[in-house]
Amino acid sequence: MTTTLPAYDEVVARYEPVIGLETHVELGTRTKMFCGCPTDFGGEPNTRVCPVCLGLPGSLPVANKAAIEAIIRIGLALNCSIASWCRFARKNYFYPDMPKNFQISQYDEPICVDGYLDVEVDGELVRIEIERVHLEEDTGKSLHVGGATGRIHGATESLVDYNRAGIPLVEIVTKPIPGTGTLAPVVARAYVTELRDVIRTLGVSDVRMEEGSLRCDVNTSLNRPGEEWGTRTETKNVNSLRSVERAVRSEMLRQASVLDAGGRITQETRHFHEDTGDTTPGRSKETATDYRYFPEPDLVPLAPDPSWVAELKAALPELPRVHRRRLQERWGLSDLDMQSVVNAGAVELIEQTIAAGATPAGARKWWLGELSRRANETGVELAAVGATPAQVAELQRLVDEGKLNDKLARTVLEGVVAGEGSPAEIMSNRGLGVVSDTGALTAAVDEAIAANPDVAAKVRGGKVAAAGALVGAVMKTTRGQADARTVRDMVLERLGVEG
Ligand SMILES: [Zn+2]
Repeated sequence: MTTTLPAYDEVVARYEPVIGLETHVELGTRTKMFCGCPTDFGGEPNTRVCPVCLGLPGSLPVANKAAIEAIIRIGLALNCSIASWCRFARKNYFYPDMPKNFQISQYDEPICVDGYLDVEVDGELVRIEIERVHLEEDTGKSLHVGGATGRIHGATESLVDYNRAGIPLVEIVTKPIPGTGTLAPVVARAYVTELRDVIRTLGVSDVRMEEGSLRCDVNTSLNRPGEEWGTRTETKNVNSLRSVERAVRSEMLRQASVLDAGGRITQETRHFHEDTGDTTPGRSKETATDYRYFPEPDLVPLAPDPSWVAELKAALPELPRVHRRRLQERWGLSDLDMQSVVNAGAVELIEQTIAAGATPAGARKWWLGELSRRANETGVELAAVGATPAQVAELQRLVDEGKLNDKLARTVLEGVVAGEGSPAEIMSNRGLGVVSDTGALTAAVDEAIAANPDVAAKVRGGKVAAAGALVGAVMKTTRGQADARTVRDMVLERLGVEG
């Protein structure tokens, strides 16, 4: 079924979006949540399992203290209250990706509640309220093979890998976020970005969306102004920051077209498709009663010592927003300039480029210019564009030393992004570099003057601007590998004119 979607501007003129985000973060603990199995990514299927995480009869779980410490630190960084007493809950469900047929989670007694995270959007601070942060165990992975799509429909067989089952997982749930209007998709992305940065700063997870250690479900609903909030859908499979923004936007457009036609929104989970940017329906959403939660009888309650919580709070590192403000001061950037650095996702990249020896201006120029343009064109995150901070610092050094001019540096950078090696290697392999041999340049300048006697006469007669044509001719002979300013000085000197 193909329907024509309304324009985004019209949608936000007629409807108010309410968004909400549920983010799952796999903790980087050495062992699983309730057993001693290792957690590192990428082992042979079903090699990191034991009776506890396979739920074999007679096995008993024991909570991982490092995971509890990590979630308390996340809760504190998100300004939450930490429960002095709470319990794990058993969530019953029957999918093959959880061998026990239940998952240990938290239900009505989460360990962290009522927090917030401030995010900057277009220079404004938006406070995102956090409803809860709780701890649970991750599920295994199902692999459906033999079909065209990798989905269960059309597959000839399904395989399960329980290596991931039991890895500690933190779920961070926002309260509904109304009032963002046209900015809803951008706010969603800014929140997940800030949350990722906070968690990375805490050092409790590598928060890699592409490897699934940070996963995001996006809730979206629309209502007409003055009316109650609409029915929400929950979009899954959102695997990049860019996709968070696209998923909200795409769901707003889809819901508006349903509502415009007099239809109703079904409460359901939907799958986001990276390739088309669309969502398609998944299963209709379970409700809490389907899961028949009850307090987990195999575990003792969690009662973190308040003095331990206070110690963890006192030891929190400087959080990203404070850190960014300090960098902004050190780099001497205006609010607007810093905002563009943040929006481009370039803070850390620039920081590392400066650490590798570049000046703030030099680092910013490449990441926000050439490399941002390329990232946008190819639809990848800036960090994945193909250049490293060390390479960018080297490129800028070659420019500062006069070995590359701006144009050549851009060509070298193309080579870096294409994986041809370091800037110096590319210069030598491709024979790029500013001609600094004065003899060769003098010859090229003389040749250009001889070939363009009328232009030379004009310049001699005082029309200094005409020298541009001679500089152009020299740049052409040297295949762009000369420093244009040096060439201009040489041309003027040769013609006996003051620059
Ligand atoms: Zn295990």
